[in-house]
Amino acid sequence: MNCYQCTDVRLKPIKLESALPAKQCDQCGGTHIDLLSYRNWRENTKLVNQEQSTAEPVETSDNKKALICQKCSKLMLKFRFSNKHDNVVDVCSHCDDVWLDSGEWELLNQLDIQNQLTQIMTAPWQKNLKQQHFAAIKQEQYLKQLGEEDLQTVKSFSQWLKDHPNKSLIERYIRTNT
Ligand SMILES: [Zn+2]
Ligand SMILES: [Zn+2]
Repeated sequence: MNCYQCTDVRLKPIKLESALPAKQCDQCGGTHIDLLSYRNWRENTKLVNQEQSTAEPVETSDNKKALICQKCSKLMLKFRFSNKHDNVVDVCSHCDDVWLDSGEWELLNQLDIQNQLTQIMTAPWQKNLKQQHFAAIKQEQYLKQLGEEDLQTVKSFSQWLKDHPNKSLIERYIRTNT
């Protein structure tokens, strides 16, 4: 089977983890994982809770172009896995295969979601990413309009108010006295 990105380079069998076989391209460093092997690995491997890794940025190369599955020639789907990174995993749902660009497996490890590869491509994961994204935009708008100092004051106030036993009384006070 050839590389999903270079297309004229043959993939070589590797071990991505000690019990996780995959295929890799010498030229671009991309990795092909079949999800059957992946699920098998995930079920049979106890992931040791890693020390929260040093925030050394992982170098990745994320292809932006649409990839064609090298097995069935269908267009692969792209799934973003984090709002902080532009990277996506390319998935052929027909073949149950995943293509990761160079460094992306290391990135998944750093984010500690290497055992959730199959969740990334689900609607709840993608919906959650979108919600987080919009929440961040909203926060930015507040910051822009209120300024950092006022926003901090509002934040600590609402934090204090959140579980206050007299929450509604305080809110009524604000409504009627401001
Ligand atoms: Zn390649
Ligand atoms: Zn396919």
